[in-house]
Amino acid sequence: MSNDQPSDGISVGIDLGTSNSVVAVMRDGEPKVLADDQGHRIQPSVVAFGYGSAAVVGQRARQQLTYAPENTVFSAKRLIGRRYGSEEVERMKRLVAWGITEGPHGDARIRVQGRVFAVPEVSARVLQHMKQLAESATGSKVAGAVITVPAYFNDHQRQATRDAANIAGLKCLRIINEPTAAALAYGFGRETRQHVAVYDLGGGTFDMTVLRMEPGMYEVLSTAGDTFLGGDDFDASIAMWLREAVERESGVELAGNHAALTKLNDAAERAKVALSALDAVDIRVPNLIRGQDGQSVQVHTRLDRHTATNLVMPLIQRTFVVVDDAMAQAGLSTSQIDAVLLVGGMTRFPSVKEAVASYFGKEPVASINPDEVIAVGAAIQANTLTAGFDPDAAVLLDVTPQTLGVGTVGGFVEPIIPRNTAIPTERSKVFHTAHDNQTQVRIKVYQGESRLQQDNELLGHFVLDGLRPAPRGEVRIKVTFAIDADGIVQVAAVDEDSGRVQEITIEASSGLTKEEVKGMRFDELGF
Ligand code: AMP
Repeated sequence: MSNDQPSDGISVGIDLGTSNSVVAVMRDGEPKVLADDQGHRIQPSVVAFGYGSAAVVGQRARQQLTYAPENTVFSAKRLIGRRYGSEEVERMKRLVAWGITEGPHGDARIRVQGRVFAVPEVSARVLQHMKQLAESATGSKVAGAVITVPAYFNDHQRQATRDAANIAGLKCLRIINEPTAAALAYGFGRETRQHVAVYDLGGGTFDMTVLRMEPGMYEVLSTAGDTFLGGDDFDASIAMWLREAVERESGVELAGNHAALTKLNDAAERAKVALSALDAVDIRVPNLIRGQDGQSVQVHTRLDRHTATNLVMPLIQRTFVVVDDAMAQAGLSTSQIDAVLLVGGMTRFPSVKEAVASYFGKEPVASINPDEVIAVGAAIQANTLTAGFDPDAAVLLDVTPQTLGVGTVGGFVEPIIPRNTAIPTERSKVFHTAHDNQTQVRIKVYQGESRLQQDNELLGHFVLDGLRPAPRGEVRIKVTFAIDADGIVQVAAVDEDSGRVQEITIEASSGLTKEEVKGMRFDELGF
């Protein structure tokens, strides 16, 4: 573990959130959330372009969102590691005023002011901002970070997050799952045996994780999630309600009017947050559009909590499909859960809290701060990884969220490493040649729960070549699929005949090559 020790600075924990990011560090044996010079402990994960090459990030960028939406990138995390043609990217396109285009590897890229950025380049700006914040707050250089991701993130999304760290010039000590980080923070200094359920509803993703906590050990029993279900969807439901009212009253269609839709979305989000504390809110959006008579149309309406709850209830219900799945995978009933942790800004919404309390039949733990707890857990883990051998450091056993498999004939997938297997792990499979004198085999690697290739994520493919010409079935190649502690897939192959190790590089079906990442590094570019 001491190998992970960055020699040239402190290590921090970064919660790289969809909506907001937080950085924390261990100081004198206690985790501490760091604030910027204005005292803000939470930074919007927003990147505003339009100020030359150096983008503005965080609080100042968020202010630009309503008046220059086409230059202000938010929720980039929803696009990270996604293929351009995917349903999620299509949905995102409808939500944003900037462009989303196809990258050279089929990945989704962000177009702002005629410039195209890979998504990790945008996330790297957020990471760089958090790194600089930590450096100002502590007066020390930040060398490495534990970065959190939603538990349900697949290999592409994890790789892309690691690429973002690399671009930002930040050594990624480890990628850990957000709910696991929350449990680490909850368990810190608490020497008890408990089953803990973590319900994590953030801006863009939902994760549910069940853990067994013992003194000195955290063992994840199961995890399940939906990487496209979060607060943004709640905003969209409320914004749709506003939009329908505006269209009905003004007779003007808002489709394609990104400026107006962004304003409605922003108003919806503010109303949703206010409704966590109030029974009803007034929503006002002046000068939204020009009406048919040329007059300015404004929004001035009242939304009560009951109506808002009805609008978002289908989304809350969707989270419990995932919760059921995680509980079934853990083999536990709700009565066996000792503590329920609520994580993510969206769990401040009263109907979400009430639904969780009623499902588990107990009140969630009140003592944790849902916005900060993930960064705190990441800081604890960063400290464990860099402090050298510490007999008191807790062991963390996590699982892989999605099944890893290989493509077989007929468009099917054969599972190799089932979901919820403890990581790091490896499994091998022996491949045979199918034809006489066949000298190469192409293998496709998939992640997901379907038996059908088309419904899973194609992680990439590789070719085993230079095989000995021989009758079919005679040449045997053992391929080992491994998932490392970051949840990232590695593949190795051995020709069983000769013992020769085959070099394998998975050609990613999306994402960035090593050379591309290098070319994007801020230190190479001089900022
Ligand atoms: P996170 O990704 O954890 O930062 O969560 C951000 C999401 O939580 C966004 O959708 C916010 O609108 C939402 N959120 C933050 N605070 C509140 C609140 N008090 N009530 C309701 N939603 C909130």
